[in-house]
Amino acid sequence: MAATADETRVVEGVKTQLFIGGQWRDATGGATLDVEDPATGETIATVADATHEDADAALAAATEAFKTWRNVAPRERADILRRAYDLIHARAEELALLMTLEMGKPVAESLGEITYANNFLRWYSEEAVRINGRFTVNETGKGRVLTLRQPIGPCLFITPWNFPLAMGTRKIGPALATGCTCVVKPAKQTPLSMLALAQIFEEAGLPGGVLNVITASSSGSIMAPLIEDPRVRKMSFTGSTPVGKELIKQSAEQVLKVSMELGGNAPFLVFEDADLDAAVEGALLAKMRNGGEACTSANRFHVHESVASEFADRLAAKIGALKVGRGTEDGIQVGPLIDEAQRSKVAELVDDAVGKGARVLTGGARVDGAGYFYEPTVLADVPDGADLLSEEIFGPVAPITTFASDEEAIARANDTEYGLVSYIFTTDLNRAFKVIESLETGMIGLNQGMVSNAGAPFGGVKQSGFGREGGPEGLDEYLETKYVAMNVGTEPTAL
Ligand code: NAP
Repeated sequence: MAATADETRVVEGVKTQLFIGGQWRDATGGATLDVEDPATGETIATVADATHEDADAALAAATEAFKTWRNVAPRERADILRRAYDLIHARAEELALLMTLEMGKPVAESLGEITYANNFLRWYSEEAVRINGRFTVNETGKGRVLTLRQPIGPCLFITPWNFPLAMGTRKIGPALATGCTCVVKPAKQTPLSMLALAQIFEEAGLPGGVLNVITASSSGSIMAPLIEDPRVRKMSFTGSTPVGKELIKQSAEQVLKVSMELGGNAPFLVFEDADLDAAVEGALLAKMRNGGEACTSANRFHVHESVASEFADRLAAKIGALKVGRGTEDGIQVGPLIDEAQRSKVAELVDDAVGKGARVLTGGARVDGAGYFYEPTVLADVPDGADLLSEEIFGPVAPITTFASDEEAIARANDTEYGLVSYIFTTDLNRAFKVIESLETGMIGLNQGMVSNAGAPFGGVKQSGFGREGGPEGLDEYLETKYVAMNVGTEPTAL
């Protein structure tokens, strides 16, 4: 399929080399890797394929730059973040098209991600000048406590393909605001958005070495030595739970401080008193945003038995009407999955559920032709043993089951090793609080199908990980607290 002039222009505008120490350079040995459009299966670009030497050079650059960046005036750091924000804002449409070409989601959704991603830069540009320690008088009156909050040091960031820009900026924003430097490794399927971001930071006046971007086909072998390198002081990983577990093991070598934003299995609870219109709209957003390829995607719908049938029919009507196609085309609401492996996994999960007795209300099959499309699907009467209730689906499939009581809803919701987010639809405030306090997830959407917000702490519990990104909590991840015990003050008075 021939690329349009706009598509060619945005792809050709991206520098496809490694960004190390403020320089663009080829991989040692000159290897490259192809980037594919998942809507067509065609190669759209070729980027550098970093070796271990390149990764090491990137860490050396981040380590060197930390010596000066940590002492740059907070206002100057804030201004650079703000300039990057303004540049992204001005180029949002071309960045959205670029993102759609490498990741597949409709351009309108890519534009939504650009805004969300950029909000982290604005939020943390505003926080950069408000990093405070504290000063207190000892309880005896003699002695003082002073705390300093200092940048932790050079960081490693590993990001997934499903949100190619936002999963980077929510780490880069707070890191740069606090005076940390970083090496970023985006997913091999979607390196272009991160390379475009590096160009924007370069234009915004970020000193060389503060942000380094390496793209690679063999993540495991190039990242493992860095994770075990004592120059690194912090790693933040967003990706799957199995890879996260492996990285936690590697990080033990240097007792590295890590944040883990891992997989999810979000329950979506609809109680009998819910506003069903709102619940269906919320379900559509929680399930179909990003084509279901989000860690926050509603993975299973638990609906009170008295409203389950109506909810299922209404959701199926909405989901069945969604227009599927290449995300660059007008009116498209659902793009392709990222690759054939992901599509096969989704197909297997649906086939397993149907084989065990689930009813297909809409969808349930691959879409023939080029690209990795799968029909938006709603399954009713999904039996407890179906794999897709316990595994992360990561696709446009909504399985519906029922419950009879609040206690059963809570027990079903918590019956997973994951704990990222849950969604609750009820109009009863007492019930809402009882359920909120009982759910084992780091985030909850109450009568809304989306929780992402640059000013709020995003993160999970259980095997969905630890650490928070966004809001003031996101800044804390990049600061060490140093306590000074001060022998000053008057002699204690009798207590
Ligand atoms: P993934 O396979 O775990 O990959 C994530 C990143 O880790 C990619 O950059 C990947 O590189 C890299 N990687 C893979 N193996 C590695 C290794 N041994 N050492 C170092 N790096 C390694 O996950 P994904 O399929 O890209 O993303 C989907 C997953 O991310 C889902 O489970 C989703 O729930 C999760 N996610 C979580 C959040 C959250 O905030 N909790 C947000 C978004 C996504 P290459 O791909 O280049 O090899």
